[in-house]
Formats: sequence, C-alpha cells, structure tokens
Amino acid sequence: MRTSAITRRSEPSPQSWWRALRALKSPRQSIPAKFLALVLGITAVALLLAGVAMLSYDLTVYRRSWAADLTTQAAILARSTAPALAFDDRPTAQLNLSALQAREEILGAALYGRDGMLYARYQRSNEDSLPAQLSVSIPATEIAGNKLELTHRIERNGEFLGTIYLRARYDVTGRVKAYITIFALVTAVSLIAALVLSAVLQRLITAPLNAVASIARMVIESRDYSRRALKINNDEIGVMVDAFNSMLDEVQTRTDALEKSNSALQQEITTRQDVESALRASEKLYRAIGESIDYGVWVCDAAGRNIYVSDSFLQLVGLNQDQCSNKGWGEALHPDDAAATIADWTQCVQTGDSWYREHRFMGKDGVYHPVLARGVPIRDDSGELLGWAGINLDISRIKLTEEALRDADRRKDEFLATLAHELRNPLAPIRHATKILDTSVADEKQRSWARDVITRQVQHMSLLLDDLLDVSRITRGRLELKRSGVDLVALVNSAIETVQPLVNARRHSLQVSLPEHSVQLQVDALRISQALSNLLTNAAKYTDDGGTITVTATIDEYVTIAVHDTGIGISTAAIPKIFDMFSQVESVVDRSQGGLGIGLALVKGLVTAHGGFVVAKSEGLGRGSTFSIHLPHSTIVPAPERIEPTQTSDGTKATACKVLIADDNRDSALSLGMVLEMSGHIVHVAHTGREALTIGAREKPDACILDIGMPELNGYETARHIRREVWGSHALLIAVTGWGQSDDKEKARDAGFDRHFTKPVNLSEIERTLEQFAKRL
Ligand code: ADP
Repeated sequence: MRTSAITRRSEPSPQSWWRALRALKSPRQSIPAKFLALVLGITAVALLLAGVAMLSYDLTVYRRSWAADLTTQAAILARSTAPALAFDDRPTAQLNLSALQAREEILGAALYGRDGMLYARYQRSNEDSLPAQLSVSIPATEIAGNKLELTHRIERNGEFLGTIYLRARYDVTGRVKAYITIFALVTAVSLIAALVLSAVLQRLITAPLNAVASIARMVIESRDYSRRALKINNDEIGVMVDAFNSMLDEVQTRTDALEKSNSALQQEITTRQDVESALRASEKLYRAIGESIDYGVWVCDAAGRNIYVSDSFLQLVGLNQDQCSNKGWGEALHPDDAAATIADWTQCVQTGDSWYREHRFMGKDGVYHPVLARGVPIRDDSGELLGWAGINLDISRIKLTEEALRDADRRKDEFLATLAHELRNPLAPIRHATKILDTSVADEKQRSWARDVITRQVQHMSLLLDDLLDVSRITRGRLELKRSGVDLVALVNSAIETVQPLVNARRHSLQVSLPEHSVQLQVDALRISQALSNLLTNAAKYTDDGGTITVTATIDEYVTIAVHDTGIGISTAAIPKIFDMFSQVESVVDRSQGGLGIGLALVKGLVTAHGGFVVAKSEGLGRGSTFSIHLPHSTIVPAPERIEPTQTSDGTKATACKVLIADDNRDSALSLGMVLEMSGHIVHVAHTGREALTIGAREKPDACILDIGMPELNGYETARHIRREVWGSHALLIAVTGWGQSDDKEKARDAGFDRHFTKPVNLSEIERTLEQFAKRL
C-alpha cells in the first residue's frame, strides 16, 4: 500500500502574517492563519489598551506631581521672600527669585505685593512676559497649553503679604511622544514574541491539523486514498491524525474493492455491449440479406406459427407482422394454391421436415405473384425442433422467362418448320428445270424458261439466306454499316425496283410520294433499301390482289419513309410483338405467302443500327397497315457537287485504268473482270497469287483487286510482294474478302492494301474507287 505524509511546517513569514491578518475576514482561511491572526490580534489589542491606560494614568500623575512640586517650590519661595516683602527688601526678594535659575523647567516667577502689583520677578527668557499685576490672590493652579501656572499666597503670622506666581513647562506632547515610542517598541517586541509563540503553537497544534487538511484536500481532488497525514505527537491531535489515517485506510480498502468490482462490472458491461452490438450488426446483416432477396426471409416457431417475415414480403401482400403471424399469409394465397399449401405446411410441421413449395400470393397491387418458399428446420443441440427459417423467393421473372422461353421455343420450332418449307419450296422447280435442261427434246424456249426458273429460285433462296445472315449479324451485334452519301429518291427507287415484279404479279397499284428537292442521306444504302424492300414485299404479300400500296417520304424531325397498304391489316394485340424475331400473326398469316417471320425484325435491326426506329400501325384486321422507317435528321448531309465524267478523244472514259484481278474463284474473277471491262477499264485476270505477280510484272497495272483466300500465296502475301515492285509501289491495292471485321481490315492495311471490300462486293463502289483513282493518274 502506498502512503505518503505531509511534513512541511508553516514557518512565519511576512506573507503568512499578511495572510493571518486577512484570515480573520475570510472564513475560508486555514487554521494556522486564523490562529496567527488571533494571537496577533489579541496581543495588539491588549497592548493598545494597556498603553492608553498607562498613558492617561501617567499624565494624571505627572500633572498632579508637577503641580505639587511647583506648590512646594512656591511655598518655599513664599517663606523665603516673606521677610523681604514685609521689610520691603526688594533686592533680597529679587535674589530669592533668581535662585530659580537652577531649575530649568521653571520659565518664570513673579512676586506681587499686597496690592497685586509686581514687586520682583525672574524670567528665563524674554519670550515669556510675566503679568504686571495680579488680581487674584487665591492660590490656584492652571494649565495653559504646554505651561503650568501657579499662584501662592505669601502670609506671615496670618498676615497676607503678597502673592507668588510661578510659570513652568508642562511638556505633555513630549511625554506622549516618548510614551508612543515606548509603546511601539513594546508592541513590536510583543508581536514578535506572539509570532514566535504562534509558530510554536502552530507546530504543535495547527501543523498536524494542517497536514490532515492538506491530505484531505488532496484525497478529494485526486481521489488518491493512499496518502496519509504525518503524526507529530501523541496528544489529542495525534489521536485525531491516527483516526484520520485509519479512516483513509478503510476508505482505501473499500475504494480498492469498489474499483475492482467496478472494473469487473465495466468489463462485463463492455463485453455485453460488444455482444449486443455484434448481435445488432448480425441482425442487421441478416435482415439486409433477407431484404436483398425478393421477398426476404421468414421464421416460424415449432408450432409452425410465423414469428418473423421480411418487410419486403409484408409490403408485397399488404399485411403487418401481427396479421402475418395470425395466418394472414395463408389467406393471401391464391385460392387454387391455398388448400394444398396449407396441408403441405401442416404436414411439414408434424414431420419437422424441410419445406419447399411454389405458390402464388395476392399482392396489394391486386396481382398474383409467384413465390418459391424454401425453409429448413432449426434444432437445438439435443435435436429438439425450435422452428423453421426460410426464404420467399420472387420467381415472377423466372416464370416470365420460362414462359418466354417456351414461346421462343415454340416460335423456333415454327421457324425451323417454315425455314425447311421455304428452303424446300424452290428445290422442286429447280429440280424440274434441271430435268428440262437435261432433256434433249427440250427446245430453246423451254431451256430458256428453265434457266429463268433456276435463276429466280436461286435468287429467292439467296435473298432468304442473306436475310438469315443479316438477322444473325444483328442479334450478335456484328452488323457493320457502310455509310455513304445516297439520294433519298434513288434509295426508294432501288427498293421499289426489287419489289416491282411482285407488285406487278399481284396487280397492285403503287403510288409514290417523295420530296421534290434532292435529299442526300449518309446511310448504308444497301441496308436501308433492304429494309424498305422488306416492307414493300410485306405490303404486296399481305394485300389482296389489286390493292394499293403507297410509299411516302417526308422530312421533318426525322426522315420518314412510310409504306401504307390496303391489305389484311393487323390486330391491335399483334402490333406490339410484330417486330419480334419469328413473329408471325397466326390468325391472318396465309402460309402460302411464305416468309420466315424475320423480315420485320431485320427492318427494325437495320433501322435501329442507323439510330432510327420503326413504327407499325393498323386500324385493325382488314383495314390495311402502315409501316414506317424513321431515320434521325442528322443522317441528312449536303448533296455532293455533280461531276460529269470527262471523255477522252478516243471516246474512252478519262477515268479508266489498267486493272489486275486475282481470285481463285474463276467465275467471280471473270465476271468482275467483265463488268469492269464494260466500264472501260483494261482488265487482266489471274487465279493465283504467283500468276498475279507474273502478270503484274509484265502489264504493270494501275490497280490490283486481290482475293485474300488464295492458295500458295494468299492476298496479303501477294500484296506485300507487289508493294516491293517499282510498278506496285504506287498501284491501288484493293482487298476482297469474306471477313470484314476490324482486325481483318487492320491486317489488310498492314499488308499494303489501300482499300478493303467485304464479299459480296458492291460493284458500283469498286467502280467508284477505280474512277477516283484513275482521275489522279
Ligand atoms: P414474314 O413476312 O416472313 O412472315 P415478317 O417479319 O416480314 O415475316 O412479318 C411478320 C408478320 O407480320 C407476318 O407474318 C404478318 O403476319 C405480319 N405482317 C407484316 N407485314 C404486314 C402487312 N403489311 N400487313 C399485314 N400483316 C403484316
């Protein structure tokens, strides 16, 4: 146990004296100070009273004795001067008076006759003039300022002879001053003695008390109960110090015990708080986990009564926890599910099994929501069933997806059936036509008809396949648009051209309304034309013979191309899904019209790829339909200046050049060569890379159109060789490939190609490129 004691003593000092004096006024001053103040105060008051008493006594005695002394002196003088007065011996009288010179304190003396007239006198100095006549002959003593005057009768044998007058110093002020000086000295000495005494007393009485007080104050301020007061002696104060110290011992023991129990309590509280906050955090976590699941978690007791369910579920069914606990959840079940679910749950409660069930709950939105409920039993260590905890899973999206998947599967089956049908359809006429061609008896007219049939059917199939490929590209997000400037009118006309045979066959009337001024669009002309011809084909297909098809192009917020027909129309219910893949309106589709149900999906995909949108409208079945393509206004670009082709003197176009075509597909190479020759170019054809290099070295062509997938030396390698030749370093190199991805284009650029075209190539684009190149030659 740590103890300490106060051993400091209060020594008297000027400060302590001052404090002591102030202590009397201040009730909060220390005991030593009060003690000192008391001793000093009493000493000072006693000295003062004694001084005053002594002074007043002394002054009275002094006055009396001085008066008595003077009276004696006057009596002696009266006796000695009486003869002189009686015999009128003035010199003797004068002599007797002059004897007073020996007494310093006597300032003057005078002798007056019976008549009161001055007879003789003695004067110590001229300052004090003596009265010339004395009227009073009665003996008297009188004090005037610091002088004492005395008159005494001179008698001889009872006869009055005259009067003696004495004037002496009466120095009261000097006496008082002397007294004050003595008083001050005595007071000082007394106070010092008092202080010394006080110090001794203090040491004996107040120091121990003071030590106790200091310890008490320290204990109160610092709560340090290990401090102890120093015991100086064994008197009552010593006993008190002992009592105080043992009280501190007791307090310390209790405080230590209290502190220990406090710290244990504090630790327990902290542990409990930690546990509680961990519990709260874990509860929050589980609640959050519960709420993160649509529609959260649930807990039931061993009797199967719901005791907790997540807010999301309560919000779904519009119940509160109490309602839910009181079978409310069962009442919210779909009537078709309720009985089975409740029976299942009752059995689960009896068996203590896991719970797994799909059912529908009536939401507060008035709609039934499919929910998958799963739960597991909770058991204590002894295996006693405590209840169930589980989740309510919102499976509406799964149900919708299931539905959509079923629908898509159905449509896919239909599509495959239709596709098979559509692909098989052209095969019969082709087979027949081939047979006719194989027959030797067939005349030229029949052969030509058969060729037409094959061409038409092949074209039909290739269109079908093109559509399929495009749709696949769109769904995989791999459609690449080749935008170029194209006139709106030309665009619409090219689409009409495609569909014109069908329109004619069905004897429809086609009306076209286009803007009068030229509108130049920056679009992939082929794609937009393809989308428009799909709409026109549908209009022709789904309109009874002899109907009217109207094509209108307008420019406002959008560039709008609308196709209106007077055909079978579309029901309001079918319109929202009409642009979906494989969507065909069952009730109205006349299967004889053919089609895979991808045409409109393709239209939508192509237009959306241009940043536009499509709209389908119909007044209803039998009341015609309107399909419109809306392209953003930003697709409109300024019309290019028209450059008329210049003619050379020999009639060939100035834009013609020498072209080398290399392609292992002979038909492709030759047909392209033929087309370019027809445009005035000089064409050489090679079928391998090596052949291309040989012909190139010989003919030094201005431009080379190279297929990439050639054997031995592919297009890239051939291009690299050409670039190393003098003639080839400035030649225009065009790559033609079935691969049109950006990294293919990158490869072509690296190999030295200037341009890259994806098969099937757009002939007019190749021609335009050659023309522009030729102009620069
Ligand atoms: P397809 O014509 O090959 O069946 P589409 O995607 O082009 O496929 O058309 C989807 C369906 O939309 C068609 O089967 C038809 O039922 C309906 N449809 C399309 N265009 C018209 C139209 N102009 N009039 C009425 N119905 C149409």
